[in-house]
Amino acid sequence: MNLVCAKCNYKFEKDKTPKLCPYCGKEGSMGKTKSAQDFLNESLMESDE
Ligand SMILES: [Zn+2]
Repeated sequence: MNLVCAKCNYKFEKDKTPKLCPYCGKEGSMGKTKSAQDFLNESLMESDE
């Protein structure tokens, strides 16, 4: 999967989501990159929770 660091925006591909960003070392900053379609789906599914 494609991953991106929320802190430094470093992008790379890995099978699993690492705890630390391999570039800046920030913990818990790794997330999957989102396509425009993902953003669209999320906004459509947003609830009041
Ligand atoms: Zn980073």
